Amino acid sequence: MTGWIFVPMLLMSIFVMELIYREVPPGWKPRAFGNTGNLPEEVAGYVVERPDFSSFKWEGEGLITLWFDDAWLSQYENAYPMLKERGYKGTIAVPTEYIGYESYLSWDQLRDLQKNGWEVTSHSVSHDCAYIEEDINNIEQELVESKRALLREGLMFDNYVTPCGKVSDELVRLVKKHYKSLRLIGHNLNVLPVRDPYTLEVIGVDLETPLIEIEWWMGEAKRKNMWLILMFHQVEDKENLYGNDIKTMNEILNAVERLDLKVVLPAEVLSIK
Ligand SMILES: [Zn+2]
Repeated sequence: MTGWIFVPMLLMSIFVMELIYREVPPGWKPRAFGNTGNLPEEVAGYVVERPDFSSFKWEGEGLITLWFDDAWLSQYENAYPMLKERGYKGTIAVPTEYIGYESYLSWDQLRDLQKNGWEVTSHSVSHDCAYIEEDINNIEQELVESKRALLREGLMFDNYVTPCGKVSDELVRLVKKHYKSLRLIGHNLNVLPVRDPYTLEVIGVDLETPLIEIEWWMGEAKRKNMWLILMFHQVEDKENLYGNDIKTMNEILNAVERLDLKVVLPAEVLSIK
């Protein structure tokens, strides 16, 4: 009698285990029930495995974040190995609708970056530069749906980067409701500790930016003990208006090394009390 029940139960449990563990990339577990913020748990497809920030300690010095916007594939193929070689972690701003398309990263590549200590941040769903002029519900959709997509894919979703630096009082109110910070594109350094996490400023680096100018900003961060966020787009040997070639990227990283600026993630900086 006992055997009659035991065998089907055993088969059933093998079948369930097979379903749970099938085709899951290494290091990832299906169905996450971790830190889901205010989103329903059932949207989570993977466990959000956050980089380990426990070793981070701010000692009053100037800091730098290397923030890569729009999830270009060249950031993964070219910038990531260059940073890795130096032991630096980067941050990536993801318009969730772009993922998987040609020239952009895949979800697996984003998970790989996060697993290797990078921070993933939201950059809306559609990257529509005119979105803040839209109906309030549409704006909120961009914030909520991108966060939901990141969570579902096991990626971090705490911080938000507004497309094209667009901002309004209404947007700030919504970002405060759904995220821990808002990154703009204002041209400046950030005070440490951060006073208002919803006004983070960056220095954009593109084809036209002289290296000497970037080095000056790095020097300022070092001298004044402030936080410099450098914003990058494509990193490849092609003429992209907003991008950088590999040689320039290398020179920038050499300058970071020479000035001995600590490379940090936004989540680390925002944890400074
Ligand atoms: Zn962008």
